[in-house]
Amino acid sequence: MLKATSEAINVNTRMLLGLLALAAVACLVHTSIAQGVSDQNASAKNVILLIGDGMGFPQLTLARIAKANENLTEYGPSRLFMDSMDQTGYVRTSSSNSFVTDSAPAATAMATGQKTNNGVLGEDVTAIQYVRDGANLTTILEMAEKTGLSTGLVTTTRITHATPAGFYAHVDNRDNESEIADQLLNSNVEVMMGGGLQYFVDKNESDPIGSKGKRTDGRDLLQEFQAKGYVFVYNESAFQRIDANNTEKLLGLFDSSHMLYERERELSPEKEPSVAEMTGKAISILSKNDKGFFLMVEGGRIDHACHARNLSNTIGDTLAFDDAVKTALDFASGRNDTLVIVTADHECGGLVLQPENLSSYESGSINPIFASGTTKTPGPRYDFITEMEEATHTAVDVPIMATGPGAEKVSRGMLDNTQIFSIIREALGL
Ligand SMILES: [Zn+2]
Repeated sequence: MLKATSEAINVNTRMLLGLLALAAVACLVHTSIAQGVSDQNASAKNVILLIGDGMGFPQLTLARIAKANENLTEYGPSRLFMDSMDQTGYVRTSSSNSFVTDSAPAATAMATGQKTNNGVLGEDVTAIQYVRDGANLTTILEMAEKTGLSTGLVTTTRITHATPAGFYAHVDNRDNESEIADQLLNSNVEVMMGGGLQYFVDKNESDPIGSKGKRTDGRDLLQEFQAKGYVFVYNESAFQRIDANNTEKLLGLFDSSHMLYERERELSPEKEPSVAEMTGKAISILSKNDKGFFLMVEGGRIDHACHARNLSNTIGDTLAFDDAVKTALDFASGRNDTLVIVTADHECGGLVLQPENLSSYESGSINPIFASGTTKTPGPRYDFITEMEEATHTAVDVPIMATGPGAEKVSRGMLDNTQIFSIIREALGL
């Protein structure tokens, strides 16, 4: 009995050891397969990150309603191009020192994976705007450059404005745009397009479209860029003549300050390319690199339209940004090597899509308002009557969508904006 029992134990032990060994082997095999599969899945040659500045969920809903001509029957099938993307999620946007971020720490979070304080670009949390520098952080664009990828920045704001600058600049104050332009010159970014000529030209000189510069050091950065091999263009016709096959480095600056709102641009299309056209040109130039590329595209003036409580420009610039998303998706479709991510840095305006009044849900019409920038009057009820001149950013979460290798990571629960950096870095294997 004893013997039998001990034999039984031995048999059981051997079986157990055998099972454990099998399990261990299986585990190793599984791990290596999983590793292989996930590497394969996560491996992207190219990443295109498109940021709608100030583009929260309500701005998307508003754009869909506009696309459906405010007709409920048409609204059912109404889709933005970004609505076709495979994976969706939502992102928290707070900065180190505020629930309500501005574009500088939001861009820094996406570009470096680190939170910093409002007004600060590319420096850690020890930096304080107007007060002191912090330690420089490394951006995803700099990592991509270092590994031999081509890089590009496209925006409808000044190219030295906070969102694009978050990918290449390191300053304690986002308003130091002359210094930010210097840093752009040394960034080795291959393709850059947007507005902002004024920070490339001295205050005693005129920029190519006739406005005075804002630099105080006598330098002509436009010449310095060209001396470094950049092709420089500043209007639509020169932009159209750019042959992507024969262009390696491009600086396109189409306005002294920000570029036009889309609805203004449509009235004088000879002046400036659209954000979709700039995106297409950037992709044509950057995609010649066999190692791949990283491109950031910003629909930068959705935010400005919301600050100004301008529904028409909010819709116009959101739809124009969506056209740029389509350009990116057209490039990525039919290939399995390009991760496209669309998100926002923060919502702007506290846009509320409300009915005309309390008893008119059934009337079918909406009366959108920008609720932010109002103050509560004292009293038994909160009556929101005093409007600040400008609507403000808000603390609400923003959408994120993705398609391509690694896209599933945007839909694994709540994201923080710093995780966008990790998703891109892992996809590119940096
Ligand atoms: Zn803003």
